[in-house]
Amino acid sequence: MSRYWSDIVQHLTPYVPGEQPTLARPVKLNTNENPYPPSPRVVEAIRRELGDHGDTLRRYPDPTARKLRETVAAHHGISADQVFVGNGSDEVLAHVFQALLKHDKPILFPDITYGFYPTYARLYDIAYQTVPLDEWFAIRIDDYLVPNGGVLLANPNAPTGRALPLEEIERLVARSPESVVVVDEAYVDFGGQSTVSLIAKYPNLLVVQTVSKARSLAGMRVGLAFGDATLIDALNRVKDSFNSYPLDRLAQAAARAAYEDDAWFRASCAKVIASRERLSAGLGELGFVVVPSAANFIFASHPARDAGQLAARLREKEIFVRHFKLPRIDSYLRITIGTDAECDALLGALRAYVG
Ligand SMILES: *Cc1c(COP(=O)(O)O)cnc(C)c1O
Repeated sequence: MSRYWSDIVQHLTPYVPGEQPTLARPVKLNTNENPYPPSPRVVEAIRRELGDHGDTLRRYPDPTARKLRETVAAHHGISADQVFVGNGSDEVLAHVFQALLKHDKPILFPDITYGFYPTYARLYDIAYQTVPLDEWFAIRIDDYLVPNGGVLLANPNAPTGRALPLEEIERLVARSPESVVVVDEAYVDFGGQSTVSLIAKYPNLLVVQTVSKARSLAGMRVGLAFGDATLIDALNRVKDSFNSYPLDRLAQAAARAAYEDDAWFRASCAKVIASRERLSAGLGELGFVVVPSAANFIFASHPARDAGQLAARLREKEIFVRHFKLPRIDSYLRITIGTDAECDALLGALRAYVG
């Protein structure tokens, strides 16, 4: 604390991202990164964008990322004015809070979900109410059919990995014409059902996605939002009052190339999904209770072992998983799906502790 700090800063509780160890080859299963590289076309596109001697870098990038939005729009069968892009979906979400979720009534999101939501609500001074998940960590849509200033759901949810069927989300959107429903689909490509197909039908639906997880580009910082052009306009107004050039040239070129190589993307998702089923079975054999996951991570608890201690012992072996010291979930570990070799290293280490 310092007398020079603004009142806002004095009262912030910043989000704490997972550790990025500096070890040469950690088994890094703590931040839901993809274990496989992006399409080779991504690297080619970055080289092409750089040009000789990086001459293109003298110039500002396209502030509207038009080519990227057109590529993504074509991929989803929507129009470019229904697409917003930002510097990672975290930034997109920040703009969503300011542009679309600040109203008189409190916004609603689950008690167990992505930790950035309460952080942004506090940053922008937006009242919120958390809605408890049921005892199996499922979202109950009926709980959200009450007056509110907006609803924010991650589907699949984080850190549980549980997914809601499309019809359930549609029921919420159809019955909430007074408020914006935001669906954060960071993990949708690993087994969820996307609501992007519904944006033309519902002017109050905003879908947020990212290239960080399924498209292996966490390092490029590109996030997206899809919705009615009026919602997208609101996001652009905030963006153009904050940073006109959130996506650099290389990020725009890389993300475009990633969307153009659909075969690579699908193969990589399929590998992660296969490894998830394998790891879930392996953890089950070790006595873990495994929440059914539609994401690239698993949420698991051992009835006889303290999760925090397990995480600490794994860390000694340079195996990183995530443990949240929070009510209801402090007996769980969130484990990112790695390569099969990484999952085997994890299972081997755990066997020694719980076997
Ligand atoms: C990872 C994640 C994000 C942020 O992704 P970036 O695009 O890398 O900023 C957003 N929402 C959820 C639920 C996530 O897990």
